[in-house]
Amino acid sequence: MRMTRRELLIGAGAGALGVLLVSCTPEPKPTPTPTRTPSPLPTTNVPAPAASIRSTWSTDPFSRGAVSYTRIGVQSATRETLAEPVEGRLFFAGEATDAENPGTMRGAIHSGESAAVRVRATAGPGERIAVIGAGLAGATVAAKLADADIEVTVFEARDRVGGRVHSQLDDDWPMPIQLGGWLLGDDPKSSRPILDSLETVDLASALWRSPAEEPAQEDDLDPVGNAPLEKALAAAQAFPADVSLSEALTETGADPEEPGLAALLAYLTTTSGADADTVSAWFPPALPNPAKAGIVSDLGAVVQEMLEGAQLTLSSAVTRIAYDDAGVSLRLGTGESTSFDRVVITVPLGVLQREGIEFAPPLPFPYRGAINALGMGHIETVWLRYDEPFWDTEATIWHAVDGDQLIRTWINLLPVTGENVLVGIVGGTAAEKFAELEEDDALVAALTSLDAFLPSGETD
Ligand SMILES: Cc1cc2nc3c(=O)[nH]c(=O)nc-3n(C[C@H](O)[C@H](O)[C@H](O)COP(=O)(O)OP(=O)(O)OC[C@H]3O[C@@H](n4cnc5c(N)ncnc54)[C@H](O)[C@@H]3O)c2cc1C
Repeated sequence: MRMTRRELLIGAGAGALGVLLVSCTPEPKPTPTPTRTPSPLPTTNVPAPAASIRSTWSTDPFSRGAVSYTRIGVQSATRETLAEPVEGRLFFAGEATDAENPGTMRGAIHSGESAAVRVRATAGPGERIAVIGAGLAGATVAAKLADADIEVTVFEARDRVGGRVHSQLDDDWPMPIQLGGWLLGDDPKSSRPILDSLETVDLASALWRSPAEEPAQEDDLDPVGNAPLEKALAAAQAFPADVSLSEALTETGADPEEPGLAALLAYLTTTSGADADTVSAWFPPALPNPAKAGIVSDLGAVVQEMLEGAQLTLSSAVTRIAYDDAGVSLRLGTGESTSFDRVVITVPLGVLQREGIEFAPPLPFPYRGAINALGMGHIETVWLRYDEPFWDTEATIWHAVDGDQLIRTWINLLPVTGENVLVGIVGGTAAEKFAELEEDDALVAALTSLDAFLPSGETD
């Protein structure tokens, strides 16, 4: 199969995203490619990387997915229900409880700030508060309560802090490998000081290209905007019942299979974790708003610093929460039990859905309803480091429009960091499939996905 390449601009007007789009069209086989070093894997001409590492959030018992999303027919106010205290004893926080920026680092931090305000409004002097989970939400609550001289103990199931932000440090890599959240959008209104103070690489110059500033360099550079999505979502607001985003597009005469639109939808899936046929058109995820910056700091160190004023217990999964008028009792995986006045629960929605924690008595119906109504989406990422680049494009985001490759979106860090690092991002059901693969098969899937981006004449 021969790959043809073309570049499109995704996004509207001056906020257009320059992406390398490739589509696969059956053509006669080209002349075989000369062997590369190191040797290619049998199924692809893409050389094996010098190092690779990937995430498996979908199968991780302490996340059970990547980010929450709003399912068809579910109200966005469902998240607010979840954020309400239960009998003044249990407080929920975490990205899934944030109605403004769910599924993001900003949402997680904001939810932690809100929960801290609620706890402070309820707690009396000298009370002991427990926080379950040392991700961004848990660390934020703990920092805010500790600042107010409230005694806080944080229980974290993993042997590290950060949760769904995970910067893996490895001497073989030139920068922290970000296996969870690390990309920031460009909305200054939603910015959080913690995130804005971090060291970032400016992906904007490479990702965002204004057609006016940087005219098409290739004959086949086409603009693709959010217009069809906006039109479909606006029309869906008047539908008698909620439908999926895909259905809203079809109803308004758009073709979700059309390459530019397919690229936008796939990009949306890598940021929302949900396929377009499962997300609500009434309460859709934020429309493609490509990353402007990538965090290159060690996020674990940042979270650790936020937790300085709290007592932190790692490798301590909470398995049961019993609550009544007198207080809250936590049972840990070790069998040990401990009591507090109030508890803030920041575990991911996926953990609550899979009943990773038993509640006694069971949570009131509105909470169980909210937990089961929201969806848990899937995002996985794979980082590949090369000694020499095999690619010949300066484009920073690459996206394959069609074909059956598992990973369609790649970030090329070479232009912005000078390092030969490619980051694959996959969302939705494809991410679940990727997470279930054995290590060797996952690497083959990643490399065959990159086949589409080999310089012309090097595909088979
Ligand atoms: C692959 C991926 C890419 C992402 N990309 C971006 C991005 O580019 N930009 C962005 O803004 N956001 C992104 N996100 C989303 C962002 O990372 C999350 O929204 C955010 O980190 C969630 O923080 P949290 O504190 O709500 O949850 P978490 O970070 O999940 O924290 C919850 C903590 O609870 C712990 N826990 C679970 N069960 C138990 C238990 N039983 N007992 C004790 N502890 C428990 C977990 O181990 C975890 O540490 C991405 C997420 C993923 C997975």
